[in-house]
Amino acid sequence: MVDSVLDAFADRYSRQTRFAFIGEAGQRKLADASVLIVGVGALGASLAQHMVRAGVGEVRLVDRDFVEPSNLQRQMLFDEADALAVMPKAVAAANRLRQINSSVNIMATVADVNAQNIGFLAGGVDLVLDGMDNAATRLLVSDQCFRQQIPFVYGGVAGAQGMQATLIPGETACLRCLIGADDMEQEADTCDTVGVLAPAVEWIASMQAAEAIKWLTGNDSALRKTWLSIDLWSFRMRESELPAFSNECPFCGQTPDGATDDKRCFEADRAEDTQISSTVLCGRDTVQVTLGKPIDLKEVEQALRALGCTLTVNRYLVKAMITSGEQLILFPDGRVLVQGTADAENAINLVKTFL
Ligand SMILES: [Zn+2]
Repeated sequence: MVDSVLDAFADRYSRQTRFAFIGEAGQRKLADASVLIVGVGALGASLAQHMVRAGVGEVRLVDRDFVEPSNLQRQMLFDEADALAVMPKAVAAANRLRQINSSVNIMATVADVNAQNIGFLAGGVDLVLDGMDNAATRLLVSDQCFRQQIPFVYGGVAGAQGMQATLIPGETACLRCLIGADDMEQEADTCDTVGVLAPAVEWIASMQAAEAIKWLTGNDSALRKTWLSIDLWSFRMRESELPAFSNECPFCGQTPDGATDDKRCFEADRAEDTQISSTVLCGRDTVQVTLGKPIDLKEVEQALRALGCTLTVNRYLVKAMITSGEQLILFPDGRVLVQGTADAENAINLVKTFL
C-alpha cells in the first residue's frame, strides 16, 4: 500500500528537479530539511503551502489564533467550515497540508510564541520563516534565530505594501538592528488597522519562499541580499543593501556579553509568568489574557455552560459568548482571547469573573 502510494507520486517533484539549480541533489536537501513557520495567518498559510508542496521534510507550524470569517479573504489554506468550527489556525492548516503532501512531517503547535518556548520550537531547524503579525514577536524570534545561528526569512505586509529580507547570522544585521529603534511605530500599520490586499501578501510570501528554497537547496550564492519594499497598488519597488552585523549588537554582533543579556531577559520573563498578564491585540478589539497556568477545557466548559453561556467547543479550545456581549476563547495553554474589548483591565476582570 505504502509502496503504491509512493509510486503514484514518484514524479511529484519532477518540474522542480528539472530546474537546473535544484536538480535531484537539491530535492534531497529539501527532503532532509526542517523549517519553522511562526504565525499561520495569510503569510504563514502561503509559506506553509510552498514548503509542503516543494517537499521540505519537516514543517513546524505555530500560531496562537483560530480561524475567523474575516481571515478567508486572504488566508489561502482555510475555508468556511474551519471558521464555523472555530479551528485553531495551526491545526486547520496542518490538516489541509497533510492532504496536499502526506510525505511531509507536519507538526502543529497552538501557542503564543514567547521567550520560554521559542528556543524549543526553533530547536534543530534549518530556517525560520516569518508569518507573524506584530513587531514584538518578530523581534523575539529574530533574537532567538541569531542566538541559535538560524537564518530568519523576514516578511511583513499591510495594506498593499510589503517588506522582505533574509537575515543570516554571521553575515547580515538582525531585525532588531534594522527596525528595532522604531518598532513601536511599525505597530501602527497592521492588517487589522489599515486592511490588507491578498495579492500583496502572496507577493511577499513568494519572495520569502523563493529565498527559503535557495537556502535549503544549497544555493546560498543566489540569495537576494537586500531589503525589499514594495507597493503593489502604485507599483513601486525599492531595494537597499542589507547592512552587515553590528559588533555593538548583543544578537547579531555575537559578542560574549550577549549571553549575559539573554539570561537576564529569560529570568525577567519567568518572574512574570506566575501572574496574570495581558496584551491588547491592536485593531482587533481583542485582548489576550495569559493566566500563567493551564486551563482544563472540560472543567471550564461545564462551568460556563452552568452560567448559561452559549458555547462552541472543539478539542483545542472553548469559545463562549458571555452575557455582557463579549466572547471568551479559552486555550489549554492558559490563554484567553477576550473579543469585544480593547481595554486590558476590563478583559482581565471578565476573565476573573467567569473563571
Ligand atoms: Zn543586531
